[in-house]
Formats: sequence, structure tokens, C-alpha cells
Amino acid sequence: MTETAPDLDRLRGGTPPRNHDARTIAALTANPGCARRGVMDAAGVDKDAVARYLGFGAPFGQSQFAITRGNAFEAQVKADGCAELLTLLRDRLGLAVPEVAYDDLEVVAGNEGREVRHARTRRLLGRALDSGEGTLFDHPLLRLEIAGQPAYLEPDVIAFQLEGRLHIIEIKSFAVVDGQAEPEQVAAAARQAAVYVLALRRLVGELGHDPARVSHDIFLVCPENFSNRPTATPLDVRPQLAVLERQLARLTRVDRILAALPGDLTFEEGDGLAESVRTVEARYAPDCMATCEMALFCRDEARACGATGALGRSVRDDLGGVDSVQTALALADGSLAPSDDLAETAAQLRTAARLRAEALSGAEALGGAA
Ligand code: SF4
Repeated sequence: MTETAPDLDRLRGGTPPRNHDARTIAALTANPGCARRGVMDAAGVDKDAVARYLGFGAPFGQSQFAITRGNAFEAQVKADGCAELLTLLRDRLGLAVPEVAYDDLEVVAGNEGREVRHARTRRLLGRALDSGEGTLFDHPLLRLEIAGQPAYLEPDVIAFQLEGRLHIIEIKSFAVVDGQAEPEQVAAAARQAAVYVLALRRLVGELGHDPARVSHDIFLVCPENFSNRPTATPLDVRPQLAVLERQLARLTRVDRILAALPGDLTFEEGDGLAESVRTVEARYAPDCMATCEMALFCRDEARACGATGALGRSVRDDLGGVDSVQTALALADGSLAPSDDLAETAAQLRTAARLRAEALSGAEALGGAA
């Protein structure tokens, strides 16, 4: 990073950083080439607040009803030191779960600081791994390197040790009816659990243990058949882990992006906020609408400048290197001479334009004959 590159804390403009969760990391890997998202997330900027301040607030995340229902179900499953959860693991899954200790790592002696909580997570997990004794850890605070920057991860899960291996237990409030759940919801839960498995493996490795002691088999706990009775299902998240590791490796390194930005850049609320956001390059694609709080702002910007990405990721990929619709049209009608690296794309665009013109004139001729 250059000496003039903006500092991550300064970018936030004095507001406290937001922790990542598995949803934000799964979403981040959905658009690995977006520098804007990479920088804002690395600095822990509240993107939702920024978008709202700029007049582009998007209804995002779960409804209040779903959040309340989810919290109530989770509280029920975790009540009395996870008594209901332990019964489930023993009776439903037939696991030989011994009496276990339950540690809630959400707050450490009234201190909610991230470093303190992470240090306690490390200490207790290290002790459990050394002794091999079964223990439940609620809300472990993990750390994962994202685009070259450490990010804190706030899992809403339990890490559970069984026969020397740690498993992630993810509690979700969507229903399992007759043994079946919405495939999309299960897939999203599996993607999120994979983030926690990866972060936990990194931590276990740092503690000097074999990362494979974190199992790729997670347990998904959901309400059964429209009741509040929980059911547990084992889920193998190896496919999601492979995708996640590949996508994380593809993320543009944030320090490289920062080095090219003005040293006084900040996302603090004020007149210059929109300009600051525009200073960092975005790669808008329609799927941003489902994954990023900045989507309405970036869509507006992409449309205004005629970005090819606004037409969809596949269009942008097909037009590799041609960023604006105007340039694509000029290459197609031959009014713009392509550079060497765009020669092949330009030839394809000219062919597509010729075929379109032939199809249109053929249709006109048919219309005239009718
Ligand atoms: S909405 Fe904008 S900031 Fe978010 S990922 Fe898409 S392009 Fe990047």
C-alpha cells in the first residue's frame, strides 16, 4: 500500500466497523471482481446506511417476522445449556454424545469487544482440542482473511466436539416437512455453514492442530412439520467448501485497490459521499440485486453510463473487455477501430450485427409479401 492510500478505519468515517457474517461472505464471493464492495466490506462500512443516505435504500435481508420467529426457535433449542439440542443429537441421530459443557462466547465478562471475544474463542477451543473432550461453543467469534484483510465472523452457530472432531451446528427456522425442506434454503444454509467450517479450520490450524479435525459434515437443525419441535439433519458441505475456497482466492486484493485510491477518501455521510462511492470501481450485474445493499445505487450508475454489466454477467463476459454499450455498438458497426486485444470480440460483434440486419430485412421482405 502507498503512504497516501486511505486507511481502512478512516474510510468508515469514525463509525464502528460491522462484522462479517456468513451471508455477507457468501455474497462477497458472488461478485469477486467488485472493488467497491471489496473495499467497503474490508473497512466494515455499513453499506445499508450508505445506500439509504444516498437515497438508494433497498429492502434487504429477512423480514422482521422471520427474524423474530428464528430468534424464538433458536432460544428454545438452546435453552438450559442446549438440552433440547443434545437430546436431538442423541435420540434422533443416535450419536454417543457424553455429558458436555456449554460455553456461550457472545459476551466475555460484559465485554463485547471483538478482540477479547476472539481471544476467548481461541483459548477455549484450543483447550477442548488438546483434551479432546466434548464441548458445545455457542457464538464463537472467528476470523477469516478476506481479500488480504482479516475479517471477523460472527457465526450464529454452535461448534460442537464429538469424538475429537468439531462439527458446526446451524439452527434455521425454515420448516422441514416430511423430511423435505426448500432446496434453495438448504443450499443457502450449506453455503453459510461452509464459511464457518473454513474459518474454524483456519483457527484449528493456527492452534497447531490438524484442520481436518473440523468436519465437513454439519448438522442442520430446523422445526419439523410446522411445529416448533426441532429436527436435525446431517449435511455434507464439501462442494460448498470447494467453491468458497476458489472464490476467496479470486477476490481482488484490497491493498492493491486501496493503493490506487486518493488518500483522503472517506465514506462518511455528507455531500461528498456519492462521489466517494463512485471513486471506487464497481462491477454491477443484475444478481447484485439479491446479494448487495448497494445494488440500487450501482444499477442506477451502470444504466446511466451504459455499462455492459447492467445487461447481465454473461453479456459482460461474452463482451470481455468492452465495458460500455456505446463502445460495443461502435465496434459492431465498424465506426470504432478495435485495439489488438479487442479484435476478436469486435469481429464477433460485426458478425452478430450482420446476422441481425439480415434477419430483420428477411422479416421485412416476408411481411411485404404477405
Ligand atoms: S451492488 Fe455495487 S458494490 Fe455491490 S457487488 Fe454489485 S457492483 Fe459491487
